[in-house]
Amino acid sequence: MTCTATRLDGQRCTASILQAGSTRCFAHDENLQRQRAEARRKGGRSRAKLVQLRRLMPIALVPVFDQLAAVLAELHSGECDPKVAQAMASVARAMVAVLERGELEERMRALEERSA
Ligand SMILES: [Zn+2]
Repeated sequence: MTCTATRLDGQRCTASILQAGSTRCFAHDENLQRQRAEARRKGGRSRAKLVQLRRLMPIALVPVFDQLAAVLAELHSGECDPKVAQAMASVARAMVAVLERGELEERMRALEERSA
């Protein structure tokens, strides 16, 4: 059983119905306001975890991380085309690979300078 609501992009929502007797998914069921408020509160908590993770990453990746986090939320609400998200994820992976490569070379250079 899938949700009967229409997403913001005009497509039919494809999420499963969790609540027995409902015709809408968790995100679209207006009778689930209280649970949704609770989920938002928990989301706030996981956002705190995101903020912690954010501190661990190279400065250059912070905007990418923020953008991917926003895309994740948009994907869930149906505002973002999964194909767009897929493309963004692969560009982000490429960026990480380039940065890793740069960092590695910087370390190598530092080691070579030390041994010279
Ligand atoms: Zn739905």
